[in-house]
Amino acid sequence: MTGKELQEKLGWKFPVIAEKYPEHIGEADRFCEGYKEFLNTGKTERECVKRAVELLEAAGYRPFEKGASYAAGDKIYAVNRGKAVIASTIGTEPLARGLRMNGAHIDSPRLDLKPNPLYEKDGMSLLKTHYYGGIRKYQWAAIPLAMHGVVYLEDGTRREISLGEKAGEPVFCVTDLLPHLAGEQNSRKLGEGLKGEELNIVVGSIPYEDSKDVKEAVKLKALAVLNEYFGMTEKDFLRAEIEMVPAFQAADVGLDRSMIGAYGQDDRVCAYTALAAEMEAKDPAYTTLTILADKEEIGSCGNTGLDSDYVLHFVQTLAEMSGADYKEVLQNSICLSSDVNAAYDPTFPAVYESRNSCYVGKGCVLTKYTGARGKSSSNDASAELMAKIIKIMDDAGVCWQTGELGAVDAGGGGTIAKFVAGMNVDVVDLGVPILSMHAPFELASKLDVYHTYLAFRAFYNAR
Ligand SMILES: [Zn+2]
Repeated sequence: MTGKELQEKLGWKFPVIAEKYPEHIGEADRFCEGYKEFLNTGKTERECVKRAVELLEAAGYRPFEKGASYAAGDKIYAVNRGKAVIASTIGTEPLARGLRMNGAHIDSPRLDLKPNPLYEKDGMSLLKTHYYGGIRKYQWAAIPLAMHGVVYLEDGTRREISLGEKAGEPVFCVTDLLPHLAGEQNSRKLGEGLKGEELNIVVGSIPYEDSKDVKEAVKLKALAVLNEYFGMTEKDFLRAEIEMVPAFQAADVGLDRSMIGAYGQDDRVCAYTALAAEMEAKDPAYTTLTILADKEEIGSCGNTGLDSDYVLHFVQTLAEMSGADYKEVLQNSICLSSDVNAAYDPTFPAVYESRNSCYVGKGCVLTKYTGARGKSSSNDASAELMAKIIKIMDDAGVCWQTGELGAVDAGGGGTIAKFVAGMNVDVVDLGVPILSMHAPFELASKLDVYHTYLAFRAFYNAR
């Protein structure tokens, strides 16, 4: 055997998808048209749930009913408080043999309005915000923002808010200093380039028409317009959840159109691909459980995040209905914690370890562990589980790679994995490599998105 032959036999390198499957470039392109539409219609967790339910209903899913009897192939879904959704296809195997779970999150970093946000200062009306999730604050100034959310009026009427998305609608923004006057600001550390209390959103600059004897007429004008749009008053801000998100639409990026640039790809890219695989599951051996969760970006807390027991309760109820022991169901289950990982960035190589980074264009990334420092707060997936998942992907011809979130001690992060593991389920992270993660405009490779979908499909189809 020549050295070259031996090297091929013993060594390993992850392939480049476009070289291995040139025909997938077109397939990925077509697949991502639906993905871009999903990104544009779901800019908040609530909107993602609404869109997911529309897609699920159209694919034959029905709301889960406690006490109903379900047969193999039946498709059901359950919404948690309008912010999270579980979809499931009943398998041919008994439930006690375990579930095939796939959990992605549909919340993304953003600027939330404070409970009492509207004020007037020096002839302008502005909104105070409190950022949600890990953002680099300076990235959120001087870009168009849209207003999304929900508000409850005094009489209990629920109004959905969406302003700044459609052509002709106004947008909003956080201002930044001009370079001419930024001397002092330029000497701040980058993390304080813009401070939390400087993330104020401009909403108006003209006073209410009849401003005689009115103290803050510019603020009043803003209130009058909000009242016109949504029927709301200042007090109603206290009964609202309003999220300011980038107003731009998902777009093809690059001369070769090989990438997608958009807000909120972390982690709607896994939500969309998981949902697509879920909807295609026909008579799977194992019952599938696709979870689109909320609150991951702030630690999976709250009753719509995965630190809550809502998934556990769903599994318990499902188990009870089919006469299975839920503890046995969970112990035999496998879950993909489907979340993005940091793609190697050629402009900033110092924070990566090149041998253990994921790369744009090499497929979905299997992340054995996340966490910070000595794997703190991680779920370190076992060799046994890695072997199972790798076999499923290899058998289906999926392009996958491994990756750590940056070099050791360069930082770190977490996912929903540790909360799923807390239910005594075997879980590993799998997702899409992303550039500029958590920025208002994140970047992903279409081929990586497509192969993540292929991985999820293979996972549900595996016998
Ligand atoms: Zn994420």
